[in-house]
Amino acid sequence: MVSRGLVSGRLALVTGAGSGIGRAACQVLSREGATVIAADKNYDAAMETIKKHTALASGSNNTGDHSAMELDVSDAKSVQNLLKAILNEYKLPPKIVVNSAGVTRDNWLLKLSEEDYDSVMHVNLKGTFLIMQTFAKAMTESSIQGSIINISSIVGKYGNIGQTNYSASKAGVVAMTQSAAKELGKFNVRVNAILPGFIDTPIIKTVPDKVKEHMLKLVPLGRLGDPTEVAEVITFLSSDKSSFITGAAIDVTGGF
Ligand code: NAP
Repeated sequence: MVSRGLVSGRLALVTGAGSGIGRAACQVLSREGATVIAADKNYDAAMETIKKHTALASGSNNTGDHSAMELDVSDAKSVQNLLKAILNEYKLPPKIVVNSAGVTRDNWLLKLSEEDYDSVMHVNLKGTFLIMQTFAKAMTESSIQGSIINISSIVGKYGNIGQTNYSASKAGVVAMTQSAAKELGKFNVRVNAILPGFIDTPIIKTVPDKVKEHMLKLVPLGRLGDPTEVAEVITFLSSDKSSFITGAAIDVTGGF
């Protein structure tokens, strides 16, 4: 008997796909049968995801139906160009959209520059808005019953030292998700957010060891999460297994 994956035959766009959670999402979605478009500011990293980390990957130049595309989520023109390139290549917009692109520019409130505040807001919050608006519009115009998954953060709920900009951007992502879910339900487009805790990816490399040790004491499971553990929830939310879930914000934190 041929076993079908959870998202077989679906087209999935993943932003921030060149690293961490985005890369793991490409891995798990492709394992479950999706065709994956890995989009990232860093095209080479996105291509590496496709070549080395998707189900078809053999380390060769064979990318199957998967593709890598360059994208700056904070730039409306770049987002429009991505949609055009996808329609050109696949004829239809993706049914699954994962917003994983994100940045940190940590500093104490009393020292945080306006530039670092703006850059975090532009990528994390405005970037999520631009991708959601552009691809939800394309989904509704093609009558696609899609699923959008936005990666927020647990610090959007509780705050964190040194992250006034980042925590505000991530709280914004949850509120935006809930509002979009209310608007898009009538088109059968679901929108959900995931709030990861401390996940072992390059983004936490800048967190001082002392802070990490302190944080780990607050995690009942006593360890960092693996990006794949977030990707499994992304894939669940992408699939029909979650067909009655929209507007949800799901913690993936080891209990933090
Ligand atoms: P990561 O390994 O740094 O991956 C983020 C990816 O997004 C990188 O490839 C990055 O490229 C890319 N990116 C940055 N700015 C972009 C832009 N303007 N347009 C397109 N791509 C861009 O971090 P991660 O841990 O996987 O984070 C993924 C998401 O999870 C983020 O939204 C993050 O805030 C969230 N999150 C992570 C954790 C955690 O503990 N890891 C916890 C909670 C939430 P460059 O490397 O070239 O900048």
